[in-house]
Amino acid sequence: MKRYSVFAIAREALRHHTGWERAWKSPEPKKEYDAIIVGAGGHGLATAYYLGKNHGIRNVAIIEKGWLGGGNTGRNTTIIRSNYLQDSSAAIYEKSRSLYETLSQDLNYNVMFSPRGVMMLAQTHHEVRGYLRTAHANALQGVQTEFITPQRVKELCPILNIDGPRYPVLGALWQARGGTGRHDAVAWGYARACSEMGMDVIQQCEVKGVRSENGKVTGVETSKGFIGCRKLGVVVAGHSGQLAEMAGFRLPVEAVALQALVSEPIKPCMDIVVMANTVHGYMSQSDKGEMVIGGGTDGFNNYTQRGSFHHIEETLRALIETFPIISRLKMLRQWGGIVDMTGDRSPIISKTPLGNCFINCGWGTGGFKAIPGSGWAMAELMAKGEPGPLAAEFDMWRFKEGRFIDESVAAGVAH
Ligand SMILES: Cc1cc2nc3c(=O)[nH]c(=O)nc-3n(C[C@H](O)[C@H](O)[C@H](O)COP(=O)(O)OP(=O)(O)OC[C@H]3O[C@@H](n4cnc5c(N)ncnc54)[C@H](O)[C@@H]3O)c2cc1C
Repeated sequence: MKRYSVFAIAREALRHHTGWERAWKSPEPKKEYDAIIVGAGGHGLATAYYLGKNHGIRNVAIIEKGWLGGGNTGRNTTIIRSNYLQDSSAAIYEKSRSLYETLSQDLNYNVMFSPRGVMMLAQTHHEVRGYLRTAHANALQGVQTEFITPQRVKELCPILNIDGPRYPVLGALWQARGGTGRHDAVAWGYARACSEMGMDVIQQCEVKGVRSENGKVTGVETSKGFIGCRKLGVVVAGHSGQLAEMAGFRLPVEAVALQALVSEPIKPCMDIVVMANTVHGYMSQSDKGEMVIGGGTDGFNNYTQRGSFHHIEETLRALIETFPIISRLKMLRQWGGIVDMTGDRSPIISKTPLGNCFINCGWGTGGFKAIPGSGWAMAELMAKGEPGPLAAEFDMWRFKEGRFIDESVAAGVAH
């Protein structure tokens, strides 16, 4: 596959862009693979990529029922940060954030990682105490964050009203190397790199059943027929419960819709990401100028991949005191994704009761930031059959045994 470079752009400009190749192949499935990954979202594609890159396993298919990146990966608000409280969370999210730093070069694909800084506002005394505690924990974990004053908040984000009558800004947890990335590009970059390694990215192919023999997985029933495999990785976010049922076990995961919206494009006015967790909303500005706004999940389980009117009103009402300028903005688009929520708001990267079947899910409302680190850890688990240090704490049996990794407070907004 030809490399993307400034010379390639110049060459193609001279020949009217007639020489670009397809970024990835769309083959028919083979009869059998060493490993099948179900779900071509960011986590599934990253798992396949690191299986090939770190462990030399390249006879791999990534099977997707829709189009790649069409799930939550292409629907999220792209916040990347690693300021989590618990050690095991900080380790995997920081690994991920640091992989994002060089991901464009590693994949030879511009994922537009923009470390513009992420700020989590403290608007109650409880939050001040909580974020001070997180800042101290992060210092011990080697994650660079700091607690900043309201004046510094105003300097970094002048459109913010720090003197709100209900929720004045009392400080913020600031991660200067957090930021955003281009969600589709992350999926496309990994897919292209997987295809280049000889892996098969198979779209429009739904997994409808899991076949096993003597307690071990032998393959999957799909809308394109049976495909055999020696190892199976299930990486389907909001559909994890369905795939688990096919494989014969139950998961402690709930599916709910999470929504986001963007405004009409306006001139640049905000060059960082701000999360206001007490009032339950967050905002950044896209390169096109739209204000990207997100809030909470629906209060009931569902598989609805779309937005709803009550959400627009709730989220904007929450943010308007802190960001008065949005009161005059027209909202342009709104959408939803099905997120996979665990009880402790931490992910599952785990072996399962079915032999050679592994699961990666539970990233809920915050898994975009984790894509590279999660793929790295899941690939190690699938290749070796045992979790490495990054995944060790995230097994599914922790819920049975009470070993929770409680991130409900650090999960950004209180979903
Ligand atoms: C509105 C919104 C805002 C968000 N904001 C952020 C944010 O700012 N920062 C952040 O870090 N995270 C955010 N997230 C969360 C993040 O998007 C997800 O955690 C992450 O994208 C999950 O990636 P994934 O690869 O696990 O899942 P997905 O991208 O959903 O991929 C799973 C894939 O599996 C496929 N699939 C399902 N069932 C089958 C089947 N039977 N057969 C074959 N394929 C199947 C689906 O079609 C899908 O493409 C947000 C999510 C939403 C919805």
